[in-house]
Amino acid sequence: MANPLFDRLFGIYAGKTTPFLYLADGQVWTHARFLDQVAQIAHVLIKAGLMPGDRVAVQVEKSPEALALYGACVQAGLIFLPLNTAYTADELSYFIENSGASLVICDGQNQSTLATIAEGLNASVETLNADGSGSLIERAAAMATDFETVDRSGDDLAAFLYTSGTTGRSKGAMLTQDNLLSNAETLVKEWRFTDKDVLLHALPIFHTHGLFVASNVTLLAGGAMIFLPKFDLDRVIAQLPKATSMMGVPTFYTRLLSDPRFTKELTQHMRLFISGSAPLLAETHVQFEERTGHRILERYGMTETNMNTSNPYDGDRRAGTVGFPLPGVELKITNPETGTSLPRGDIGQIEVRGPNVFKGYWQMPEKTAAELREDGFFITGDLGMIDEDGYVHIVGRNKDLIISGGYNIYPKEIELVLDEQSGVLESAVIGVPHPDFGETVLGIIVPETGTSPDLESIMTSVQGQLARFKHPRKLVVVDELPRNTMGKVQKNILRDSYKDMFS
Ligand code: ATP
Ligand code: MG
Repeated sequence: MANPLFDRLFGIYAGKTTPFLYLADGQVWTHARFLDQVAQIAHVLIKAGLMPGDRVAVQVEKSPEALALYGACVQAGLIFLPLNTAYTADELSYFIENSGASLVICDGQNQSTLATIAEGLNASVETLNADGSGSLIERAAAMATDFETVDRSGDDLAAFLYTSGTTGRSKGAMLTQDNLLSNAETLVKEWRFTDKDVLLHALPIFHTHGLFVASNVTLLAGGAMIFLPKFDLDRVIAQLPKATSMMGVPTFYTRLLSDPRFTKELTQHMRLFISGSAPLLAETHVQFEERTGHRILERYGMTETNMNTSNPYDGDRRAGTVGFPLPGVELKITNPETGTSLPRGDIGQIEVRGPNVFKGYWQMPEKTAAELREDGFFITGDLGMIDEDGYVHIVGRNKDLIISGGYNIYPKEIELVLDEQSGVLESAVIGVPHPDFGETVLGIIVPETGTSPDLESIMTSVQGQLARFKHPRKLVVVDELPRNTMGKVQKNILRDSYKDMFS
């Protein structure tokens, strides 16, 4: 028997003294040390009475021990359930209850709150602090550094990962070992990761990007990671010379570009910069190439499916597109009403099928049935199109589509025009209720620092470029757009703030 995910990503490193994690304080964790920590934590989990298939809810800061906890859950056959560190007590209570977790691992600072929540739900609590201390690790220190890996098959669940909650309440996506492994294998090949790679890792590890894309890919390829607790501009710039590759959300790249220390010289040795989780502005792509000579490789994925598409490693990485479906992933554009495939070039809903697609939302059978078709296609909730060269373009979320006076309006088209206007740093276009049109277009603008954009001339310029039904009825200026921890603009918050504007 075997445990495919553990055997392929972790087991192969037992006793190997190759470097795995370079930490901000100069410490280096070898693969062997990491594996020892994984085994020791696995013993603690089993001694706590957990059985294969039980859920371990984890809300901790990023640390090598936190990553080892993921490995330990895989080795012990438990379901790893990482939670955003920004969640409040009320939210945690929902996630712990919803997931039926038997064990909660949290930062020592939150122990008393979590203990109260967990008590009512019959779960126990252990702590793991940002510096790697805490009851979990204290217990682990007394344990053996080898652990008999629990048998699992590729169909067994490995993780419940909650979606980012950009469009509503987060949903728990049930991911199997095969979902994770198949995607990591594909990405290692597509992006040419090897044991020579040192990935600059400044993403959180409670989300699919930092946990599965970055960490699983590195583990499978045998490379190392510069493992930073968070994105800190000074630290990232200081560490870049030691990295070969980097994965980030678009804001990482805009922040790097805003710093004069980020130069061609600093990035000359780099092999690859990858972006995802939110749209990378074409302008950022162009500026990045001008500054560094590197073309950022943009890819598209989500909690429920891991990665679906990627720009090519060799070949044209096109700004404003997310590239081609990955090998083994089928992607089609369908009519939202009928579900039938649309011709190339038409905008519709993006559906995907493949070994990467999850098994459904935990305890949400209606939602699962509504979004996961019987033939295996998952309705992503994103709108997009495939161009004549086969590149996939994301137009926005289905929920953000504006229907005004019977016309479909895609916010991104208007945002692109607004973003080009002088004095505009970025924008968000939303639909708000309107007595005559059902919904109407509202443009929200963030000015470049120190400027106050001339709204009248912006409106005139927009009117010259877009059909009348797409014109924003009004423009408002805000200091910044509401974003969640993954840097995604929360349009539901904007829609709520401006819902009474025209009523
Ligand atoms: P929720 O489903 O809870 O509303 P979410 O969809 O933001 O939250 P995630 O699974 O973290 O949760 O994000 C996946 C979404 O991120 C995709 O459906 C897509 O809208 C967006 N996304 C990811 N990569 C890209 C990209 N390269 N370009 C545009 N959008 C992207
Ligand atoms: Mg989603």
